[in-house]
Amino acid sequence: MQINSERLARVFTELCEIDSPSRQESAVSNYLQKLFDDLGASTIKIDESGVVTGSDTGNLIISFDGTNGETTPLLLACHMDTVGPAEGVEVVRENDVFTSKGETVLGADDKSGIAAVAELVTILKENNIPHCPLELLFTTCEEIGLRGAKALAPSLLKSRYGYALDSTAKGTIITGAPAANRIKITICGKAAHSGLSPETGINALAIAAEAIARIDQGRIDSVSTVNLGLIRGGTATNIVPERVEIEGEVRSHSPRLLEEYTRRIEKIFTNVVEAWPAIDGKYRPSIDIIVKEDFPVMSLAENEPVLQRLRKAAETIDRQLSFGVAGGGSDANIFSANGLKTVIIPTGMTNVHSTDEYIQLEDMVELTELLLALVTVEKAD
Ligand SMILES: [Zn+2]
Repeated sequence: MQINSERLARVFTELCEIDSPSRQESAVSNYLQKLFDDLGASTIKIDESGVVTGSDTGNLIISFDGTNGETTPLLLACHMDTVGPAEGVEVVRENDVFTSKGETVLGADDKSGIAAVAELVTILKENNIPHCPLELLFTTCEEIGLRGAKALAPSLLKSRYGYALDSTAKGTIITGAPAANRIKITICGKAAHSGLSPETGINALAIAAEAIARIDQGRIDSVSTVNLGLIRGGTATNIVPERVEIEGEVRSHSPRLLEEYTRRIEKIFTNVVEAWPAIDGKYRPSIDIIVKEDFPVMSLAENEPVLQRLRKAAETIDRQLSFGVAGGGSDANIFSANGLKTVIIPTGMTNVHSTDEYIQLEDMVELTELLLALVTVEKAD
């Protein structure tokens, strides 16, 4: 076995103990630049996305020339940021299971993926193993809305397809993820003293409540969900509330249904506002609705070269793969929408986005084995 699991464990621990909350990824980036430079990277680039994302660095793109005759690089992608609490991470290792000390996340999301990539390249170089050209992408600000990936200029990447190492579902390759819209609705009524002259007020909160009661939420069908998750409004118990803001989201694996459910919500709110009785024949409530695409759908056909290559690689190491879809968006949604078809490979990270996050060393070793097969397998397409 060429994989050095102790080295993998050390690099993983070092990565986790470099704090990298979103927008503060530069220290991790510096660590990776040094590591891959020492391994003989052909190019190391940091893009200009920091200006857009507000991060202290950009996305990090590192390339290695191929040594097996293949000419088009293969993309391996991970994100450098972690969710909070992320300050002062200390890794605890017990029986080859890694956790944090309990006050922070561990950061296996997504440093388990990064550590596997580091071990992969180290093995390739120390054993002179022929491999395809590699493009390694380490993004910023994934956890706060895929901002690094969204701000990445697609022309900076030469790969035709890629693998994001960023999923929890053990053993399940993610080939689809929903699209999402964010909706912000502002209803304006009219303020009035609730005891002296309630007749002259228009209660924005009552309007919102009536509309919300008419909206189906939760799992709407097998591929779509709706959630109104935030409401703000009113100023005092003795004032008829003039203004209420509601924020929510629609997700669907079907772009058509995403559009349909989004329009339905807009229509219900608009209808309720328009039907609301006017005061003195002149004051009417008003509504403002802003819909923003949060991320586009990701849906890969079975015969995509990115999946053919993965299946072939798994065969060479007798690895059983299962395939599924995710409920959330990730950087892979953005890459795939830009034409760079990307599947998501699980790393073994568990209980992510919590202080109970953990990962087993064995899972990272298995991930590295699969990556090794991917970059050395004879081209499938
Ligand atoms: Zn992640």
